[in-house]
Amino acid sequence: MAKKQTKKEGVVTWDYSPAPESTGHINLKKQYDHYIDGKWVKPSSGKYFDTINPANKEKLAEVAYGNDKDIDKAVKAARKAYKNVWSKMAPSERAKYIYRIARLMQERAREFAVIETLDAGKVIRESRDVDVPLACNHFFYYAGWADKLEYAFPNRKVESLGVAGQITPWNFPLLMAAWKIAPALATGNTVVLKPAETTPLTALKLAEVIHDAGLPPGVVNIVTGYGDTGAALVNHDDVDKIAFTGSTGVGKIIQKEIAGTNKKATLELGGKSANIILDDAPIDQAVEGIVNGIFFNQGHVCCAGSRLFIQESVAETVIEKLKHRLNSLIIGDPMDKNTDIGAINSKAQLATIDKYIKIGIDEGATMYQPDCKLPKGGYFCPPTLFMDVAQSSTLVQEEIFGPVLTIQTFRTVDEVIQKANNSPYGLAAGIWTDKGSRIFNLTTKLNAGVIWANTYNKFDPTSPFGGYKESGFGREGGLHGLSAYVKLK
Ligand code: NAD
Repeated sequence: MAKKQTKKEGVVTWDYSPAPESTGHINLKKQYDHYIDGKWVKPSSGKYFDTINPANKEKLAEVAYGNDKDIDKAVKAARKAYKNVWSKMAPSERAKYIYRIARLMQERAREFAVIETLDAGKVIRESRDVDVPLACNHFFYYAGWADKLEYAFPNRKVESLGVAGQITPWNFPLLMAAWKIAPALATGNTVVLKPAETTPLTALKLAEVIHDAGLPPGVVNIVTGYGDTGAALVNHDDVDKIAFTGSTGVGKIIQKEIAGTNKKATLELGGKSANIILDDAPIDQAVEGIVNGIFFNQGHVCCAGSRLFIQESVAETVIEKLKHRLNSLIIGDPMDKNTDIGAINSKAQLATIDKYIKIGIDEGATMYQPDCKLPKGGYFCPPTLFMDVAQSSTLVQEEIFGPVLTIQTFRTVDEVIQKANNSPYGLAAGIWTDKGSRIFNLTTKLNAGVIWANTYNKFDPTSPFGGYKESGFGREGGLHGLSAYVKLK
């Protein structure tokens, strides 16, 4: 309910009464072990680490720190389950388990959403309306494919790979786990998943769901830990496939480590995506699309539209409206349903973002931040615009992974294509225009795995997702997501 009106920078905004989501219904243990072979298993080192709420730095739980022995146990369990049970099971039976996981997740959707928000700092509106429903939909979608693989790959004999080692980042913890586990199971593989160290809780809740769904022991194993735990999984001899989502730096290390082995890999890496506003764009919708493209999830989105290109004749209007809109965004408690921008995921990530903001200022760009008070006690960063940036500037070239948007202008479509493609990354792009012909022209010339037209950051389990260049290779989602987990003969 609206409480009072305030005016900042000429923008009238409403202050809303707090509307925090309840945490009464969630069930969090104080300590989590690894989930291996259908059981909760203590870490062989005896070590645990804390996972905290980045909005207030309070400890949520402690989580097992996995080492190579734990990974070995998990891979052995996955291999045994693959050989003895999962690869032998009729595909229609496998599908039933995957459907069951999806339905149980739906039943516990509120609990998943609240835990995701507490652990990741992302706003509850997003966890509730995007992350959790999409994660459930991935299980539903891939359950549907499990007994139809001969239609997915007509005239080919389809074989599973074996044991898949999967490593996920912190920005969409549950969704990334679903992207990886669902197609692997549907194609008859077994899994060892290593979630990100700052956001392990929803993957561990997923282990509970998987357990309750009665999935045979060892089909899905979850080992928590840091980068060294992930490295132990990558380097384990008995893993047939590595599915990694994370930074380009770690992706390159993984690629070197598996070179010369028989391991298959998909690498979903960083991005620096262009959001392009042409002079005939629907301006108000485009401004909303810019906000959604980068400030959604505090800029913690691999495909964030972090480079804005505006055609010169409309640049002034777009920038003015964008500044106006930033002043009406609510930055605050991620658990509050009114909050637009939540917490930065960790102290380290906030330090990285602050470092880039300083670089932008030092390189002579013009910075704009709305007049807003940041909540105290957690990791927060205001939405930030940088204008007067050169194509070669650090902020335009490097992934920041925070709510920082660079703004450049252009005169012709050819110019913006050159500028947009002048990046080491090639994950996503957005185009805003009234004309279908301009959309078709740009989509054929932009080097990006995903291109949205007159919208941004829309995901669907039926659509493949993945990048070019330093954004990685392989596709997840859709029919393409199945090919990453099969051998075709
Ligand atoms: P990160 O690379 O630091 O970590 C990702 C995961 O890899 C974590 O689980 C981490 O523990 C593990 N890891 C770290 N070092 C490892 C090693 N040497 N061997 C094996 N595993 C290791 O990335 P992050 O900071 O968690 O996530 C942010 C990055 O992820 C951004 O660059 C973002 O663009 C990218 N991302 C890409 C996509 C995509 O689909 N392309 C989606 C989400 C995030």
